Amino acid sequence: MNIQAAIGELSSFLGERLTCSKSELASHGNSETYFPPTPPDAVAYPETTEEVAGIVRICAEHRCPVVGWGTGTSLEGQAQAFQGGVSVDFSRMNRILEVAQADMHARVQPGVTREALNEDLRATGLFFPVDPGANASLGGMAATRASGTTAVRYGTMRDNVMGLEVVTPKGDVIRTGSAARKSAAGYDLTALFVGAEGTLGLITELTLRLQGTPEAITSAVCAFERVEHAVNCVIDTIQMGIPMARIELVDTQTVHAVNAYAGMDLPAKPHLLLEFHGSEAGAAEQAESFGAVAEDHGGSGFDWAIRAEDRKALWAMRHNAYHAIVASRPGCRALVTDICVPISRLAEAVESCRADLARHRIHGPILGHVGDGNFHAILLFDPEDEEEKARVLEASNRLVELALSLGGTSTGEHGIGVGKLGYMAREHGAAWSVMGAIKTALDPACIMNPGKLVPPRN
Ligand SMILES: Cc1cc2nc3c(=O)[nH]c(=O)nc-3n(C[C@H](O)[C@H](O)[C@H](O)COP(=O)(O)OP(=O)(O)OC[C@H]3O[C@@H](n4cnc5c(N)ncnc54)[C@H](O)[C@@H]3O)c2cc1C
Repeated sequence: MNIQAAIGELSSFLGERLTCSKSELASHGNSETYFPPTPPDAVAYPETTEEVAGIVRICAEHRCPVVGWGTGTSLEGQAQAFQGGVSVDFSRMNRILEVAQADMHARVQPGVTREALNEDLRATGLFFPVDPGANASLGGMAATRASGTTAVRYGTMRDNVMGLEVVTPKGDVIRTGSAARKSAAGYDLTALFVGAEGTLGLITELTLRLQGTPEAITSAVCAFERVEHAVNCVIDTIQMGIPMARIELVDTQTVHAVNAYAGMDLPAKPHLLLEFHGSEAGAAEQAESFGAVAEDHGGSGFDWAIRAEDRKALWAMRHNAYHAIVASRPGCRALVTDICVPISRLAEAVESCRADLARHRIHGPILGHVGDGNFHAILLFDPEDEEEKARVLEASNRLVELALSLGGTSTGEHGIGVGKLGYMAREHGAAWSVMGAIKTALDPACIMNPGKLVPPRN
């Protein structure tokens, strides 16, 4: 490995768009959660696919690590260069290349953010549904197989990426998928690169499935006396097939945090936050059906919001919940758990999680995309307090064990990076070695985001 030789060549290739400035390195070495800062050796700002291919070819020649960077919001250290090397920042590849209204898809560069795409689509009557809350890049969202509040209705990035352009670890440019709605032509390489966290190549273009903007959108909040009442209401709602567009849980601790952070005045109880999409009559009918289920579970204060600004405020509050929780204990760091279980086991999972956190004196407000069986406990700890940090890590381990024992997964949406690497063998068994074999076949020198997702090489 000769990182400095690669940087020398990259500097001639990209000029000022290759930087080693301290502030740029620092901002590309941080993560939203608890991993220590690890600046890369350089940051590259490509503007075209050809430049990305050139960067990868130079790095391959010198066996220099290459780590993609979208907006850096991933939560498991995915975008950090733990082994040094070059961070490839896609913020200058931010063009929307085509909106095919008749076929309901868009071709975009990877640095386009989901909010920028939806802003651009506003006049078309179409929208891109995947919403992880953070204004993440579409390249980063594909690389982490992101989902979020609307996955219960519209699916995750796995369901919404139709095709990709990828620069392989050798620096070749390949295309996967097509603009057709389905295909039976060979291995599904699109699915392979979606969720690969940049370990198999860099995404330089995405073809994304769009949805028609619903005629009517209604949001609602509903309070419950106990978390299990809210969770059982979710289970019944999903099992009855009410087509929820969003169904999110916030527990009482989360409500305290968002009330303090966003000046809200929600009652100090667990809540479900909801959204219904459809025709005027359809959305009203869904809301009524949900209301009846909620009543059976003691739901109260079922409050509808039809005005766009009220809906916006509600979801802004939900999306800021993570920051509200972190702000509730100044100076703390957060470990965000992300287990996902079959819907029938959700109540058991949430209750066991709450009991475990209480038993081990851990402050961990719970919120999440419960309609998918996915929820997060935001485990706060003092980074200077090794004992507390260890306690939080142990709680996270127990929670993953619980999810696996219930037939679920260690991560519903945040991905593996380095934070969840330790669970891969347990979750996948021999299938993890198959992932390692795919990595070795495509990236024998292991330059693409090394140290993440697959088994370490000996
Ligand atoms: C407050 C908050 C709430 C969140 N809520 C959710 C949620 O509800 N659902 C959810 O899924 N996630 C959530 N996340 C996590 C995060 O937003 C997602 O993981 C998102 O997909 C990351 O996108 P990014 O552009 O920030 O990618 P980055 O963090 O920059 O990168 C993520 C990974 O993708 C790789 N990568 C980036 N660009 C490319 C590319 N062009 N080609 C190949 N690899 C690339 C990076 O190397 C890295 O491995 C949340 C994060 C925060 C801070």
